[in-house]
Amino acid sequence: MTELPPLHFRHAVALTDLIGRTGATDLELGYLSDTEPYGWWAKANYAGRRLYVEHHAVADLALVDLARRIVDGGTCLRCERTVTFGYTRDGYCSRTLTMRDDEYFEYVRSCE
Ligand SMILES: [Zn+2]
Repeated sequence: MTELPPLHFRHAVALTDLIGRTGATDLELGYLSDTEPYGWWAKANYAGRRLYVEHHAVADLALVDLARRIVDGGTCLRCERTVTFGYTRDGYCSRTLTMRDDEYFEYVRSCE
């Protein structure tokens, strides 16, 4: 079994939280091989569809890919602008990674 380095683990926790806040359900994360390339995959149910991403070198990048598919292009429930994930753009509401405390990260809305 492969273990996540602490920084990747913290990022994975923040991504799991973000994906959970979208209303996505049944999030699963896994890998195909005990040796490199691990082939990390992630899947979740969202808006009546089963989303699946695969072939990532590390777990948090699989979750980034999944989060991007769920979040990017959606509508922010707070400001009602179109959401961007991982980048900022004028007129849009972005989700960016910030430090929540000394230990953990959090994805926050730019409209907060
Ligand atoms: Zn917003």
